[in-house]
Amino acid sequence: MEAKVGSTQITGGACSVLAEETEKWMEQAMQMAKEALENIEVPVGCLLVYNNEVVGKGRNEVNQTKNATRHAEMVAIDQALDWCRRHGKSPSEVFEHMVLYVTVEPCIMCAAALRLMKIPLVVYGCQNERFGGCGSVLDIASADLPNTGRPFQLY
Ligand SMILES: [Zn+2]
Repeated sequence: MEAKVGSTQITGGACSVLAEETEKWMEQAMQMAKEALENIEVPVGCLLVYNNEVVGKGRNEVNQTKNATRHAEMVAIDQALDWCRRHGKSPSEVFEHMVLYVTVEPCIMCAAALRLMKIPLVVYGCQNERFGGCGSVLDIASADLPNTGRPFQLY
């Protein structure tokens, strides 16, 4: 029997996932990124997962909506808030137990939003050398910023 590869536990706040579990979610995020590309958007896609369920999905909608804030993460946050409303759940409790899967390192704007929403764990694909808010340009994810939500873990 082969040794189990990649069974690393990834933890952020109240969230914990197995490294090998992340692949299936990342694949879905990639599908969202492809959809963005097909719609002539910057190809970024993401998912918000709560209790093993996708509660928000997003892809870039900046060109389509002519709204520079319509990044995949912002779209997914709106959907997750909707999900909370429909299920009668408190967003603050749900967001504290969510994992964000995103194909590209969140930008400065989105990293700040993720802090404010108190999402504890972010799994991302490649780095974002132009606008990365999780270490590439600025480190919003772990910076010591007073009254600006909560730092989050990255994988
Ligand atoms: Zn962004």
